[in-house]
Amino acid sequence: MDKIKNMSLLSCLCEKTASSIAVTNPANDQVIGFIPSHDNTAIQQRIGLAKEAQKAWAKTTAKQRAEIMHRWYQLLMDNQEDLARIMTLEQGKPLAESRGEVAYGASFVQWFAEEGKRAYGETVPTPLADRRIMTIRQPVGVAAAITPWNFPIAMITRKAAPALAAGCSFIVKPAIQTPLSAFAVAELARQAGLPENLLVIVTTEDAVMVGELFCQSPDIQKISFTGSTNVGRILMRQSAESVKRVSMELGGNAPFIVFDDADINLAVKGAIASKFRNAGQTCVCANRFYVHDAVYDEFSEKFSNAVAELEIGNGLEANVTIGPLIDEKAKEKTQRLLNDAVNEGAMVSTGGHALDGQFFEPTVLTNVTHLMSIVQEEIFGPIAPVIRFNDETSLIEMANDTIYGLASYFYSRDINRVFRVAEALDYGMVGVNEGIISTEVAPFGGVKQSGIGREGASQGLDEYLNTKYICLGGM
Ligand code: ADP
Repeated sequence: MDKIKNMSLLSCLCEKTASSIAVTNPANDQVIGFIPSHDNTAIQQRIGLAKEAQKAWAKTTAKQRAEIMHRWYQLLMDNQEDLARIMTLEQGKPLAESRGEVAYGASFVQWFAEEGKRAYGETVPTPLADRRIMTIRQPVGVAAAITPWNFPIAMITRKAAPALAAGCSFIVKPAIQTPLSAFAVAELARQAGLPENLLVIVTTEDAVMVGELFCQSPDIQKISFTGSTNVGRILMRQSAESVKRVSMELGGNAPFIVFDDADINLAVKGAIASKFRNAGQTCVCANRFYVHDAVYDEFSEKFSNAVAELEIGNGLEANVTIGPLIDEKAKEKTQRLLNDAVNEGAMVSTGGHALDGQFFEPTVLTNVTHLMSIVQEEIFGPIAPVIRFNDETSLIEMANDTIYGLASYFYSRDINRVFRVAEALDYGMVGVNEGIISTEVAPFGGVKQSGIGREGASQGLDEYLNTKYICLGGM
């Protein structure tokens, strides 16, 4: 903490009290600081304030909102180094990745500042001569979000930026592991001139209470969630009662496919980036590798060699490329999946050990088959199972054989195959010859049980707008 220059970013910190929440560093288990806990009454009160604030905000022009958002973007980038440090301290990811996430998170603020100006309605040719028909787009009202710990800034700005640009107010409960980044981002929005109560952070260890409150509140019109499919289901069920709009970014089980005509070196580079970013703890991380028989040995060897060179350690240290897992539970799950795979016949090509603290060696498994639990489940840890395949048709069947449909990746240099496979993959996103595909200008989201709705791009704004039809009669 001593290296943070802009201490206003940490103004959320409070004294240790009976109800305060400790934030710890997953790299060494040390307490970084304490934050306040909000109870049901306090959260309800904030929802009320967000409702009031939204009325005035909706009356501003998109241009006025954009001016504030551009200042916010600039402050996020001006404070990139401090924000990255705070993120690494509470989340564990290497500093270079944290810097990248700050820039990625800020990019949504910049993008939606402009996109908010393009919330166009339509005039529609009328079928009746005495009428004129038009549509306008209006903010949904108060939008609420629940976000995860793996991208402490981006998962908030990806939702808050379109909400605010559309004219909504926004209330979010960040994951309890990573609240400092959330408060810091909100503090910069305040410094950028965002009026009070439009971007509200609430923190509590009682996630169930907040989920119920958000879903049931008649003052909230929209729920946006990023997290596990299981919790997504709960929130959708709870939202049914008040017929709320929902956006869900849920789990994934991304296939990473290497065809025999692939550029193997490029595929290895993409595999490392896609699998081991954030120690494998992202919903778009490659979860299972299908490699054609003809290039299986070459790919596995080059991939394992590259993985063996990854540097494990505290993300604040230079050269570290793999930080700790977020908590003990995550480490146990990784270990369980590894044990099961080995018992089922998988071979450890590199790595394979849990280390002290919350660290786990980046691991490559060969001799893996499609039905092993490590292939069927979302790993969310640094293990790469590599499966051999022979023909494209059965490969596509295996790739689509999952309840999930978020990201998918494949490597090929055959143009016909590129189109054929991209169209056949039952996923919301397909990376062709590229392992990192997220950007603010493209719609991020899943099909099947990976979610509903899109974030980023023009589609991301739609999630926070209602279309109103106006009929002008008696003309
Ligand atoms: P993960 O396993 O990656 O932590 P979760 O889906 O459990 O994924 O958590 C994502 C977010 O959902 C976190 O902010 C967490 O506090 C919240 N959460 C967990 N359980 C519930 C619930 N029953 N209702 C509402 N939010 C929840």
